[in-house]
Amino acid sequence: MTSDFEQLKFFTIKFFKELGAKVVESEKSLLVTEVPVKFQKFYGKNEPYTIIFENNSSLHSTELITSESYLLKTMRSYLDNTGESVLQKLIYSLQSDSLIKSNLLLRNCTISKINNTLIHKPIIKFTFQTTYKYLNDEDRLVSDVFVDKKSVIFPDLKKFKIDSLRNKEIDISDLRENYEVAKLKVKEMISSRTSEIAKQLEEVLAKEVQRINVHHSQQVKEIENQIVRAKTKNPNIDLSVYESQKNQFLSEMALQLNNEEKKYSLKINTKLLTTAVILCPLYNFEVFFKNENITRLVLLSYEPLYNKFVFPLCDLCKNPLKEIILCNGNHLVCRDCGAECEDCKDISCNQCLKQECAVTHRKICKQCGATCVKCKQFKNKRFMIKDNLGRYTICRNCD
Ligand SMILES: [Zn+2]
Ligand SMILES: [Zn+2]
Ligand SMILES: [Zn+2]
Ligand SMILES: [Zn+2]
Repeated sequence: MTSDFEQLKFFTIKFFKELGAKVVESEKSLLVTEVPVKFQKFYGKNEPYTIIFENNSSLHSTELITSESYLLKTMRSYLDNTGESVLQKLIYSLQSDSLIKSNLLLRNCTISKINNTLIHKPIIKFTFQTTYKYLNDEDRLVSDVFVDKKSVIFPDLKKFKIDSLRNKEIDISDLRENYEVAKLKVKEMISSRTSEIAKQLEEVLAKEVQRINVHHSQQVKEIENQIVRAKTKNPNIDLSVYESQKNQFLSEMALQLNNEEKKYSLKINTKLLTTAVILCPLYNFEVFFKNENITRLVLLSYEPLYNKFVFPLCDLCKNPLKEIILCNGNHLVCRDCGAECEDCKDISCNQCLKQECAVTHRKICKQCGATCVKCKQFKNKRFMIKDNLGRYTICRNCD
């Protein structure tokens, strides 16, 4: 008990001193300050740390270290985690015009202008190395695990050029959680290799165990026969010599079995080789669609890593659109929400066609009608008069 306690304390002091932190020892606790920010982030708690090793302390806000504690696990995985870190950037060759046209059918308009802005979102690549030690062999397996916002992903990086950037300190939020996710995944990834090796070893071990069992059970049987023979000759004979020999055989057998099990045991060690932060492109577009009547701005985005194109929504029903249909009243509409103006026969929408001409009572679009400033009636422009700026503001009745 005491030695466990001392070991943990020793490990903790050594760990923090090697990190470059300041450790002040007192009777029941350690006060740790000047902890590197990287560790504080990894642990998820800011310094100073008052560390205790027994839970009966009356101190407040302390970190208890036991063999099961979170801080101890954090220190251990931080040691694994100090593998080299790398910063990379994915370069994508974007053809915005053809990208948009391949995702959206332009029904009654063309593209007049595209502005795009490029931002980057980080994902993390953890590279692990697993070492299998068994018999006199050593096998190594390297596995890459990609994590984006705490989920494992399987990106296709072939379509990118990869640029290595100067390794400046990059701040990754939730590094620790992402690492935990990756660590679980790598266990799963190596499990088939692990069970393959374990199975081979078990098979050889089973044969050895059988050989030992056969050999010793013959010896034991032999001595039992000797006991029977001796008893027949003299029922009162002292059997202790025989018994002790029998026990010796049995304990030899146990020892040999134990040795064989050790010999065929499998040691697995997985450590982190590198942590790469990979900056992935995300494009935001401002696209201007136009026809002879109107120009409409639409915001779109595209994330090459996931080949994710964000489709625009119908202004009326909010369903995503795979085609661009402009309503005469400047709306972006789907087939269900679009309708024909009863006058010009152009595409308009249910909302714009709510108004009907006060004279003809036909549903007409915003291009065909105007509201008179005097009588406030909505009328076909045929019944309106232009002012000297060319606007239809007054109807013939009110003129
Ligand atoms: Zn719609
Ligand atoms: Zn019209
Ligand atoms: Zn409309
Ligand atoms: Zn009027």
